[in-house]
Formats: sequence, structure tokens, C-alpha cells
Amino acid sequence: MELPYSVDWEGVRAKLRELGARRVLVQLPDGLKMYFREVEKHLGDYELIFQGDPCFGACDVPLSLWTLRPDVILQFGHSPMPNLDYGSRVLFVEVLSEASVERALNSYLLISREEKVGLLATAQHIHLLETAKEWLESAGIEAVIGEGDHRLAYPGQVLGCDFSAARSVAKDVEAFLVLSSGRFHAVGVYLSTGKRTYALDPISGSVEDVSDYGERLLRQRFGAIAKAEEADEFGILVGLKPGQTRIRLALYCLEVIKSAGKRGYLISADILSGQTLRAFDVDVYVNTACPRIAIEDWRLFHKPVITPIELEMALKLRRWEDYAMDEIWRSDGIGKFG
Ligand code: SF4
Repeated sequence: MELPYSVDWEGVRAKLRELGARRVLVQLPDGLKMYFREVEKHLGDYELIFQGDPCFGACDVPLSLWTLRPDVILQFGHSPMPNLDYGSRVLFVEVLSEASVERALNSYLLISREEKVGLLATAQHIHLLETAKEWLESAGIEAVIGEGDHRLAYPGQVLGCDFSAARSVAKDVEAFLVLSSGRFHAVGVYLSTGKRTYALDPISGSVEDVSDYGERLLRQRFGAIAKAEEADEFGILVGLKPGQTRIRLALYCLEVIKSAGKRGYLISADILSGQTLRAFDVDVYVNTACPRIAIEDWRLFHKPVITPIELEMALKLRRWEDYAMDEIWRSDGIGKFG
């Protein structure tokens, strides 16, 4: 199956040569795993080992991968997080969509037309941002691209746990247009900014206003917080993936739980799954790893899963009107966050 994206294979080979690599461990996100033969076609003269486990993002370069003693780890489809030190032997390979953005923008104009919008994109579509901006401006719509924080490689980039580029311009725009495949990133923008948000898929040319879906998710969140208010025992989940580990935040959660006269237990895992955690039969889990586990994956757990911000609300340390989406940038310091 041919990869429907553009990859700079010559650039990858040049870097591998420079590093004198022989054994190469390949990380592919689940959506790209089916193209493993394409990787073999271009890099088959190296000793390739494909990672079978899921690869969730640039946050996810587990130390355990070095057990196989690769010379290089190649992660496809994500941009490196500038705040993480990966060392010189982890290389990120951009996988850029070849789609043109016009179809999705035309679809947007069929359902809405704000006067001023914020533009965002995931790593696969990041190169389309400037074209989209020019196209919108020629249609009389002002478009702005915000600067993000230290976890983003590009202006206007969005991660599932980092909406800083959106927030930097949120007060100046009426809505956000997010170039992405699926609604995952767009709904995060909606929850983080409260602004109407459209997911524009350059590949299918479709558009979706995700605001209603975001409201449904919010109602689920408030249900989980209400259950946490009644809880006595909390399991505080600490992720082991380098870009997801927030031990200081986990310790803060433990402290506030104990101060409220309740019991808390720190539980670490690489992949947090309801099945493996079933034995830790607490009332509620507080997730400090990937923030999206609580938002999208809570059904996979046998007990409610809340975010650290939601814990503050359940313990009456934060008001309901101050609800905020959990993002990893919030926990870089010690103690109070958000
Ligand atoms: S922490 Fe979660 S949302 Fe953020 S990059 Fe990693 S997998 Fe994606």
C-alpha cells in the first residue's frame, strides 16, 4: 500500500548515514502502521525493527525501546517537542499530507463565515497553514496563526494536550479552523478556548462544527466530577512516557487528597489501561499522564477517571465556572497550576 503522504526519504537516509546507523527502530503511529512495507521499501538496507506497541505522539519515546540496542529510533508522523531532550539518536520524520486545503475551506464557507478566525493544524497538515490563510483572506476573512509554547515545533501547531497556539489569539477571533483528520484536536481547542471550532479535513475535504460534541463531553466531565466528590479513595495515575510524566503534579494531587482527609495512591504505568488497573480497586482515578485518557478513554476504565483540574473541583479547591481543559504545559511547575 503506497503512503499517501510525502516523506523526505533522501533526507532520512542522509541523517542515518551521518549517524553511522545500522539497526533502526521504527515507530509508526497506529494510522500509519499499515504502511510498514513502504518504510521497508525505502530503508530496507538498514536492520529495521518496527515497534508493535502503539506510538501516541512525540511524548512517547519510551526508554524500554533502547533494550533492542538500536543505533537510531525513527519516529514517523510527529514533530519533536522542543522542551524534551531526546538525545541525538532519536529522529523525527515528518509525514506531510499531499492534499490541497481548498476543498475543506470551501466546505467551511458552505456552513459558516466568521469575519476573523484563528488557524491551527496538526503536524501532518502544518505546511498548509499559510496557503489556508491566504485563501481565507482572499475570501475576505481575516485569519491569524498564533504562537505556541515550548512544547510546539511550529506556530499554529496543535497537539491533543497543547492548545497554547489557540489561546494566544483566542480573545481576538470569533472561531477556530483546525486542519486535522478527525475531531480529536478540534474538540480540544473548543474545550480549551470555549470558542466555536471547526475541524477541516484536507484529505476528505469535509468540515465539522465540533462545538456540540464538545458540550456533550463537558457534560460527561461534570458527571465524573460529581462522582469524585463522593469518593474516599483515589488512584493517582503517573505515566512513564517521557513527555507525559508529571510526577510533581501527581504529588500535588496526593497532597490535596490527603489534606481533604481522603486516601490516595500513586500508580505508575507505561500504557494506562482499565484492564491492568482493575486490581487497584479505588473509587476514582486521577490521571496525570496524557490528558486525553480522561476525556476520550474513560469508558475503558471500571471507575471514573478525572483530570487534576477536575480533582481540584471535586475537592472544592476550584469553582465550577473555572473549569479548564487539562494540558501538559500547566504542570511544568510545582504546586498550584492552571
Ligand atoms: S500527551 Fe497525549 S495528547 Fe499529548 S502528544 Fe502525547 S499522546 Fe498526544
